[in-house]
Amino acid sequence: MEIFKDPALFQKRMLELKRAGKSIAIVPTMGYLHDGHASLIDNARPRADVLVVSIFVNPTQFGPTEDLQSYPRDFNRDCTICANHGTDIIFAPDAELMYAPDRSVWVEETCLSRGLCGKDRPTHFRGVTTVVAKLFLLSQADIAVFGQKDAQQALVIRRMVRDLNFPIEIVISPLIRDTDGVAMSSRNTYLSAAERERARILNQSLTAATAALRAGEPVEAVQQKTLSAITERADRVDYVAFLDSETLEPANAATGEILIALAAVFGHTRLIDNTLVRRPE
Ligand code: AMP
Repeated sequence: MEIFKDPALFQKRMLELKRAGKSIAIVPTMGYLHDGHASLIDNARPRADVLVVSIFVNPTQFGPTEDLQSYPRDFNRDCTICANHGTDIIFAPDAELMYAPDRSVWVEETCLSRGLCGKDRPTHFRGVTTVVAKLFLLSQADIAVFGQKDAQQALVIRRMVRDLNFPIEIVISPLIRDTDGVAMSSRNTYLSAAERERARILNQSLTAATAALRAGEPVEAVQQKTLSAITERADRVDYVAFLDSETLEPANAATGEILIALAAVFGHTRLIDNTLVRRPE
């Protein structure tokens, strides 16, 4: 397994591989890898000759009061997980080499990124699209795998790829949960045992809401019930949204597939979760 920290050397190597006719897949991550990340790597592995995993705690997607400094890191463990899942190349750049001190160009999606997490984290998606655009250009990837765990991010990246004509295929991989139903996340490490127990309400209420929608209950009623259930257990609820899964417009009777997206805080930890529901015709 090759490891690159310098973006220029990484890009040189990727261009060499490209010119040699190799197909390339990339799985972008912020490290502190868990089984959710591993499932993305497994999904990507058979899709290309060369598999790249990037590990970068991207400063531009953190707000000034967020957890950039304390974000969990364990590079050696990440390398072992990557090697065990067939990774060929790890790209783990130094932040100073990724961003020039006088950088002045951003890639910004201006529609899908405004609601949900964009409301609470106004500069977050601009940081994500900018770093992902850089990763695509550096890696020369033909295909990139992202997780459904970050449903809004997946839509924003698809839109960026469409609108800027990136020659890359985007694959969205299923959300992976722990045995207690909590969606896997590097940030789960912040939760105390009691907070984690309370956090189970996210998946529990997604399951209940899915059943209610499938049984034909109206969206507004299900949304209200979901909000009440989560409010009771969380320390703060950022959103409980029932949306059209493609446009992120509010779901209504005519909506095909509904994205139920949740964000809530337990202790000091903000968690997101979601599911997709197709109602019976
Ligand atoms: P992160 O390291 O949190 O930035 O996540 C890197 C990639 O892994 C993103 O595409 C996430 O959507 C994906 N991911 C994170 N957690 C999960 C999970 N529990 N299941 C599936 N994919 C995940």
